[in-house]
Amino acid sequence: MLDIQQLKTLLNTPQNIVITTHHKPDGDAMGSSLGLYAYLIQKGHHVKVITPTDYPDFLHWMPYHNEVIIYTEAKEKADDLVQKADLIFCLDFNALSRINELGEVIKTTSAYKIMIDHHLEPEDFDDYRHWNIHACAAAQLVYDFIVNELEDPKGIDKDVATCLYTGIMTDSGSFRFPTATAEVYRIAANLIDSGAEHWRIHQLVYDNTTEDRLKFLGHCLTNNLEVLKDFNTAIISVTAEDLKKYNVMTGDTEGIVNYALSIGGVKLAAFVVERSDKVKLSLRSTGDFPANEICKLYFNGGGHKNAAGGFSDLNLQDTVTYLKTILDKYKTQLLT
Ligand code: 5GP
Ligand code: MN
Repeated sequence: MLDIQQLKTLLNTPQNIVITTHHKPDGDAMGSSLGLYAYLIQKGHHVKVITPTDYPDFLHWMPYHNEVIIYTEAKEKADDLVQKADLIFCLDFNALSRINELGEVIKTTSAYKIMIDHHLEPEDFDDYRHWNIHACAAAQLVYDFIVNELEDPKGIDKDVATCLYTGIMTDSGSFRFPTATAEVYRIAANLIDSGAEHWRIHQLVYDNTTEDRLKFLGHCLTNNLEVLKDFNTAIISVTAEDLKKYNVMTGDTEGIVNYALSIGGVKLAAFVVERSDKVKLSLRSTGDFPANEICKLYFNGGGHKNAAGGFSDLNLQDTVTYLKTILDKYKTQLLT
């Protein structure tokens, strides 16, 4: 284990550092990783961000995104960097299964592992942990790590601020989830003071869709949405054929589940999609309804109370049928 003084001492001299984050990285995964990257290179470290898989086009404007190494596209190079790393920062995940094959590589290295994360039930693979399930985003914890743990508020330059703002904005649902506390708004204000252009970041992330994606969304809402009034639940299911027909790219499905949740009275929304190897589920809920419990108990997954995911080895139709039988067990909670 490391304590903060030892970590600070290590970071006083240039180190070989790898930053990694969960597969299918979202705005927080990339925001926290690139924000920390921008901070650490400013301090003279040799840093690489390695993502297990590629990430959505709507994040391809972020500072330093061209420097990111995608594991599936450059395994040898990434393995070499991981083997040579002195420190490995693990951001926005806390179970090695969330980084696919990269997890096995990281497990065997002697590098110090630093976990910065806000998910429940962390696995024990780290040497230093900055972990808080009440944080709205891993990017909020990276901010806290730099400002309060490393005591380096001046380290938040424009690039760091831009990346961290992106992570906080996306993971807090544009500052509207209960996790967006007054403290989060204060951090956002500090990030704006440090140069984050909030209006531009919002535009680049949310007003940057494609015609294909918009038509795919229309198809999902018109043809694939099922509202179960008796359960205050809405389900959108998508076949592999739909994905092909609408030329759906990485990240195009992100956020579609929120349209199902936006129906008045709906407490639970599910987006169920037939991927090449398995059926993937994204669940969203309101209030106290535990979407993560359903994912954990029935779909090999987990997540946060209001945003969780998992997968099923059944086919698409059977997965939806299975989900409906599970809803029956939660009927009281869904209706109150
Ligand atoms: P999404 O629905 O956007 O894929 O995931 C929402 C949240 O659910 C993620 O932030 C993550 O915490 C969690 N999650 C999604 N898929 C999985 C999974 O397969 N396993 C676990 N443990 N958590 C997941
Ligand atoms: Mn996150």
